[in-house]
Amino acid sequence: MRRRYRTGDQTFVREMNLSTVVRCLHEAAPLSRAGLASMTGLNKTTVSSLVEDLIDRGLVYEAGLDTSAGGRPATLLELNPQAGCIISVVLGVDHVAVIVTDFVGEIHWRRSTETDPTAGQEAILELALHIVDEAMQACRANDSRLLGLGLATPGTVNVDDGILVFSPNLQWYNVPFREILQKHTGLLVFVDNDANAAAQAEHLFGVAKRIHNFVTVFAGVGVGGGLFLNGELYRGAGGYAGEIGHASFMVDHYRRPCRCGNRGCWETSVAQDSVIERVRTRLAVGRNSLISRLMAEQRSPLTVPLIVQAADAGDAEAREALAETGSLLGLGIANLVSIFNPEMVVLGGPLSVAGEYLLPPIREAVRNTTLPEIHERVEIVLSAFGADASVVGAAALVVEDILRNPGRVERLSAQAHS
Ligand SMILES: [Zn+2]
Repeated sequence: MRRRYRTGDQTFVREMNLSTVVRCLHEAAPLSRAGLASMTGLNKTTVSSLVEDLIDRGLVYEAGLDTSAGGRPATLLELNPQAGCIISVVLGVDHVAVIVTDFVGEIHWRRSTETDPTAGQEAILELALHIVDEAMQACRANDSRLLGLGLATPGTVNVDDGILVFSPNLQWYNVPFREILQKHTGLLVFVDNDANAAAQAEHLFGVAKRIHNFVTVFAGVGVGGGLFLNGELYRGAGGYAGEIGHASFMVDHYRRPCRCGNRGCWETSVAQDSVIERVRTRLAVGRNSLISRLMAEQRSPLTVPLIVQAADAGDAEAREALAETGSLLGLGIANLVSIFNPEMVVLGGPLSVAGEYLLPPIREAVRNTTLPEIHERVEIVLSAFGADASVVGAAALVVEDILRNPGRVERLSAQAHS
């Protein structure tokens, strides 16, 4: 938990109220000052003063007039998308992606590049820092102030210290990402696990905006989970909750060795490599399929997008491989649904490009293996961000910090005088 130094109860209460107002605007804007007063239970004078403060910090702006109620029109307030820009970075197993977003999560700049995990930590970090420099230049060219930097990465993360503790798929241990990035950029830096970041993105900007209990499944090279429970991200005792890819519930012939050192982890049967393996096995026994032709035509290795392309063209092998993956994803998701009784499960990450083929068998598995009172109320949907879920999530880490603590953003009036 991040706690701010308390200079006195009044300051503390004002900071909490500032956060309450900015959060209401995030959830329900456009709102008038009177609307905010009734939503927060604060009196109108207090609300007006808080709103002036937020406008002075550039976080909120007057978006227009509400004439719908008749009488004197009220000024409507919204979060200011141009409050500043956010740099967000995903350091994945096989790629680095950097985007620049505004305060409401819209992407304004992006760059990504594939990486070779065998190139080593130093080379990959250097590449990431280089792209971050380009992103910062893009913001400066736009005259935008920088609100912070978020980084999402697979593996267990010590969020308080911004350290990647262990990434089984990268085989990296104890990388002090916050320190490295803070030193390099001078920005406030937030680091989290990629699936947790993806959950934060869905809550702030995506399909789970007003949902208080949901689970995200982020599937790509590995499979991570974000547990959003009772209105906030659930982190567990050590901060490592949601490592569902390494939940060991695969049965018998699916008990394959995992990069974490165990056998039978869920991700060994449902991550993107397993889909590719499923197709490869089918092709190896001489099944007639479009896939080989597509690979030759596009001079492409076997990838999930290519398998989806074949499935779209009606290829039975591609469809069966995706259906089998979907059933196995469904098996794990059904367990999550039984344990957490969420309102929603969100599937995101690179594998979600196959969502159209994965969702039906996932829904079927959940329907067949959970209690009716639980599965009748759960929606299983695709992420609003697809493969971008974790990089948008890294931006969400920064936005979430500002919503919690808007007083940390400098006043524009102070900037003008300095
Ligand atoms: Zn594992």
